[in-house]
Amino acid sequence: MEEKEKSLQEKLFYRKKNYFEEADEKDIEKCFQFAENYKTFLGKSKTERETCQNIVEIVKKAGFKEFHFGDKLKVGDKRYFVNRGKSVAVFKIGKNNLEKSGIKILGSHIDSPRIDLKQNPMYEDSGFCFFKTHYYGGIKKYQWTTIPLALHGTIIKKDGSFVNVSIGEDESDPIFYINDLLPHLGQEQMMSNGHKIITGEQLNLVVGGKAYKDKKVKDKIKLNILAILNEKYGILEEDFLSSELSIVPAYMPRDIGFDRAFIGAYGHDDKSCVYPSLRAVLDTQSDDTILALMVDKEEIGSEGNTGMKCKIYEDLMDEICENMKCSPRVVRSKSKCLSADVTSCFDPNFPNVYEKTNASIISCGVSINKYTGSGGKSSANDASAEFMGEIRKIFRDTDVIYQASELGKVDLGGGGTIAKFVAQLNIDTLDIGVPVISMHAPYELISKGDLYNAYKAFCNFVK
Ligand code: MN
Ligand code: MN
Repeated sequence: MEEKEKSLQEKLFYRKKNYFEEADEKDIEKCFQFAENYKTFLGKSKTERETCQNIVEIVKKAGFKEFHFGDKLKVGDKRYFVNRGKSVAVFKIGKNNLEKSGIKILGSHIDSPRIDLKQNPMYEDSGFCFFKTHYYGGIKKYQWTTIPLALHGTIIKKDGSFVNVSIGEDESDPIFYINDLLPHLGQEQMMSNGHKIITGEQLNLVVGGKAYKDKKVKDKIKLNILAILNEKYGILEEDFLSSELSIVPAYMPRDIGFDRAFIGAYGHDDKSCVYPSLRAVLDTQSDDTILALMVDKEEIGSEGNTGMKCKIYEDLMDEICENMKCSPRVVRSKSKCLSADVTSCFDPNFPNVYEKTNASIISCGVSINKYTGSGGKSSANDASAEFMGEIRKIFRDTDVIYQASELGKVDLGGGGTIAKFVAQLNIDTLDIGVPVISMHAPYELISKGDLYNAYKAFCNFVK
């Protein structure tokens, strides 16, 4: 009787699976190897420009050729398309009729929360030279003080030429720093609410402290630093006006834990979805046309001409359709998209913000979100039960370890992804991604098992 009950329960109940419990050692070895490749990619992809460059380098090696609007395309072509150096699309033209099979799309974003420099950044005060900053994306500002920081970006000079900057990544480089108050004088600060522990205007970056030897000049430290920058990059203070410079953590990705189950890194959001999507397009043989969109500006609402709201991505699909003599409208109606973006992960240290039955659990696989948004699903792409069923069947048939979740408790907050902008094009779209602990922090944590199952899921979706 007991056994019969057990089997009935096994038959009827749904239970999440933990990847490390389910997988055999051979598969876990592959999983750990995938994680090594991911860490290498992630460590040098801290800004959207660098990520874009690294993707181009990888796909060029795999035989992909650059595509420009107006180029001719044919079945079997492997191409990449760069949008203003800050977003990139990688695609393969399959032999299946586009009007019947549509395009299989993986959409992810290559920007991550960080701190940008203001356009007039430099000033000197009380023995320091600082850069003034303006943060990008939703950060807890206090987390970015007293940690090693690196400076990355591009400066367009007066004559129109440009110089790329990356300081703080090499062991021999200097790093940069944001001050915080000593606890001895921090009593009032610690009474303030989290938003105000460190304010936006206090996120000033220490960039130097050595005076230029000239009694007559005011701002001797600033002058000395400008002299260093002029010698190294040929820039003047005015050139900051046309620059995009970002401050990012100077840490490299590292394994976390005695058993190395987890990866700590800056930028898991959303490179832990970008890298598996890219690899899925490279590694999968498919008769369908497959496309990875890796876009910019998700962290500030997908705005501008490099974010997902820009028409350029629809135009790119139109270019593919016209080349294949297909109606873009018919093709879009048959196309399907996994919007690959990280999701929150249940954190046993903060159980109160999660509703555990519907939270992603670490190492229980890649997580699908039928909807995101906030409150009463406001601003969510709400995928249909039909599309959920279709994706579920693919994952079940191919032994992908996956789970379904919400970000957290219904009334507590929420967030969005690029999913709704893809869905607006009349494309079935579902949110899916790697669960992240401490999302948007300078150092985030993911499970190698979840990363690897994102890769498996994306491969089987585009196959
Ligand atoms: Mn994201
Ligand atoms: Mn984010």
